[in-house]
Amino acid sequence: MTISSDVIQSVAQQLITEHGTEHRSIIEKGVLQVAERWTEEDGTEKDFSNFCLENFISSPSERQILFERFLANLESLYGNLHRIYRDFNWHLHVDTGEILPFDRQFATYDVFAHVTDDFFKSRLAFIVLLNFPLYTLEEKETIGKKWSRREWAELRLVEQFSERIPAEIQQKRTHAYVQAEEYIYQYNIYMENVVTPEGEKIFPQGLRLISHWDLRDEIKAQYANPDGLKNQKLIFKIMERIVDQSIPRQIINNRELSWEPFSNTILSPQSGTPVTYEPEARKRYEILLQVFKVEQLVDQYTPQHPSLIQRSFERDRELSEEEVERLFTSYLSSPVLKEIADIIKHRLGRELYPFDIWYYGFKEGSDYPEEELDRLVQQRYPNLTTFQKNLSKLLQQLGFSQEKAEYLNQYIMVDPARGAGHAMGAKMRGDHAHLRTRVPSNGMNYKGFNTAMHELGHCVEQVFSLNEIDYYTLEGVPNTAFTEAMAFIFQARDLDVLGITDSHSSRKHLLALHNAWQTMEIAGVSLLDMYIWRWMYEHPDADAQQLKEATMELAKKIWNKFYAPIFGITDQFHLAIYSHIIYCGLYTPDYTLGHLISYQLEEFLEGRDFGKEVERICRLGCLAPQRWMEEAVGSPLSAQPLLNAAERAIHHYREEIST
Ligand SMILES: [Zn+2]
Repeated sequence: MTISSDVIQSVAQQLITEHGTEHRSIIEKGVLQVAERWTEEDGTEKDFSNFCLENFISSPSERQILFERFLANLESLYGNLHRIYRDFNWHLHVDTGEILPFDRQFATYDVFAHVTDDFFKSRLAFIVLLNFPLYTLEEKETIGKKWSRREWAELRLVEQFSERIPAEIQQKRTHAYVQAEEYIYQYNIYMENVVTPEGEKIFPQGLRLISHWDLRDEIKAQYANPDGLKNQKLIFKIMERIVDQSIPRQIINNRELSWEPFSNTILSPQSGTPVTYEPEARKRYEILLQVFKVEQLVDQYTPQHPSLIQRSFERDRELSEEEVERLFTSYLSSPVLKEIADIIKHRLGRELYPFDIWYYGFKEGSDYPEEELDRLVQQRYPNLTTFQKNLSKLLQQLGFSQEKAEYLNQYIMVDPARGAGHAMGAKMRGDHAHLRTRVPSNGMNYKGFNTAMHELGHCVEQVFSLNEIDYYTLEGVPNTAFTEAMAFIFQARDLDVLGITDSHSSRKHLLALHNAWQTMEIAGVSLLDMYIWRWMYEHPDADAQQLKEATMELAKKIWNKFYAPIFGITDQFHLAIYSHIIYCGLYTPDYTLGHLISYQLEEFLEGRDFGKEVERICRLGCLAPQRWMEEAVGSPLSAQPLLNAAERAIHHYREEIST
């Protein structure tokens, strides 16, 4: 700190004398908040004192004006910058034909880059920090229970300026994550060159799988193949070799060599004789370690949250790590999972393998084959123009009143996506949310429609939580897990919109089993992600080799505790295959939370007015998660609703089999 504690105390004392002792706590907090972020470039101690003495406001009416002025100006700033960002990225995000080189240049132009810096340089950030106190997560969860929405909005305002991380540290951080991303995005395995121990090539020519997404999805796809088991075993061995790093370096992203993963032999394509090679050894964990090191650099600039674990949980999710851990372990300990495992065994007609955490048969087992669904989509929504034109009708089908459906329709623009699809909300009232989905040249198919329904959930949430919010700084939802939950709810109603209602109940049950199983898989990955970060902070001097060993040990520990009783197999470490663990810095818990939250919402919405309730819930805005949950569904975050849905589905399934 550049300001001495004597100066801090004396400034606070002068302000208390001037404004009255009833303002003591807010003054002491405010002065300290400014001092903690004041640098030499901001001025001398004298400048600091003058700034505080001139800018503290105690009159309620002046505070009100200050608060409102900041909200209005921030909405203008963020709203307009966001419009520029959207325009600059338009040709990369929206399928407008060929991408030109300067389109990419526009996309890399970061319009938000200097916002925080400029707020500190202009001292606007200090005005907020002086007048509005920050609170810890514990305070938010205890005294925050009694706060009004206005008080939450004030907190959200000052939280935007809680951190002042120097630009060069930010750049180092971005660089480390970009490097990690590059490592992950180029990690392809050319399956045409992978052979079984018998020397057989069982994958089609040209099949290139990126780790872990495509490898996992190929395991899923093979459940529909009657001979798929040997393909699955081969892919699983590849995954193990990636995690333990015995994979030959020469195989990664290289289509020249042939590889037999079980004996780990590389064969020369010309002579068919074994070739010597180097294992990858530690690279994967070196990359993760670099991410850890750069987060340690950030630690010293975030005194309220001096570790990525705290930033990720307490600051961003506003849920403590312990609380999330408890939620996930309670889910993983449920006896319901063993019952689903028995159903899967019955359906597969065999004992389970470790890779059956990716069992996909509940999804495939739906009564409607994809071609039939494609046909239905073609009939109703042959292209995006028709989809946009019928959006109001679609929303009414879901349960929104005509008036609300037309209102939403006004604010949602539908664009053809270049990628799989996404939703881009607005940042100022009156602006549009953009729903983007991919449409093949021969017209919309079921896949594109299903994505559109997911993105519609995001867009509806974005429109309500921005345009109908009482205070701008409360716009949005508590964190990403919540917006995903809202999207899942719309996505799950896709067949209703297509007019398929007869098989609704059995489909709903299959979907519950699918989601319960999928949540089991990702909950273990999330726990592993959390334990790895805990381990890194406990062993800051560890090298990549030690990190590798620790990762495998932790993965086995989680497996043996929660999965071994379900699978009857011990000592597996493939939960560590998730790429996010390496390059996303503790992102995976959001996936698990998203599934749990969506079932809590589903359970609540059952039998209620869908349109009205969704609107009411979205208008809660970004309160802290537990408060949001209480107000949304009347209970705190819980794993129980998903387990309840799974239990009902198991019951339904057993009855179906016995009849
Ligand atoms: Zn989404």
